[in-house]
Amino acid sequence: EQKLIIVVTPTYNRAAQAYFLHRLAQTLCLVPPPLLWIVVETGSKTSSETASILRRSGVMYRHICCKHTSGEVKDRGVHQRNKALDLIEHHRLEGIVYFADDDNIYSLELFDRLREIRGFGTWPVAMLTHDKSKAILEGPVCKNGQVIGWHTNEKSKRLRRFHVDMSGFAFNSTMLWDPDKRVHLAWNTIRQLDTVKEGFQETTFIQQLVEDETQMEAVPSDCAKIMNWHLHLDYRDVVYPNGWHLGNNLQPV
Ligand code: UDP
Repeated sequence: EQKLIIVVTPTYNRAAQAYFLHRLAQTLCLVPPPLLWIVVETGSKTSSETASILRRSGVMYRHICCKHTSGEVKDRGVHQRNKALDLIEHHRLEGIVYFADDDNIYSLELFDRLREIRGFGTWPVAMLTHDKSKAILEGPVCKNGQVIGWHTNEKSKRLRRFHVDMSGFAFNSTMLWDPDKRVHLAWNTIRQLDTVKEGFQETTFIQQLVEDETQMEAVPSDCAKIMNWHLHLDYRDVVYPNGWHLGNNLQPV
């Protein structure tokens, strides 16, 4: 029996939202089931535009919204991911939880590899820096299935414990509610924190699940492959043609 993959995607209304969601939907619909896509929008109601993309995607999904958002850069998607974790924990959905932001690019191999994870797995992600001047790797250096070090870069100089991107790890959902499955026992509830500095979101979350590198699985075992890309594409300053509006994705009116 195939393991359930639970993909959690925070998303919000902006010009390229339809583009991002279509692209991700088209990847996810090629992943062998079972896969559940939990899409969490900002605001007090879900949008009909997103609903329509999800409905036509052919992917099993749950579409929810989350009012709580500070709008601060460091909190991007944090409350939305937590809302998804509430749902997973409440329904005791057993599977591998993966945080997939809407704007990244994911290979199909990644999803095969996710099914090999038993507890907590991590891998390197290829990124462009925010100013797009440099391509870097963020994530583990591995050998024989063990994490033996980290790719470091200017972001990681800021004394993070684990140098992992939000899209560079996945874990077994039973760790959320079953202390026997969790290696780190100091935390009662496992959630993303909105009290940490920008760049520390991933490490503070992961530190709730595992204590050190020995408790991590390298995916695949030598981590020598790039399976997803985080390019920081954003379209905030794009100028739109007359007759198109950006309030509800890029659609002609
Ligand atoms: N996001 C969101 N609401 C916001 C800002 C971001 O739902 O107000 C989502 C966004 O759609 C993406 C994730 O949070 O799925 C990460 O956002 P972004 O890509 O802007 O952050 P970065 O990857 O640049 O740190």
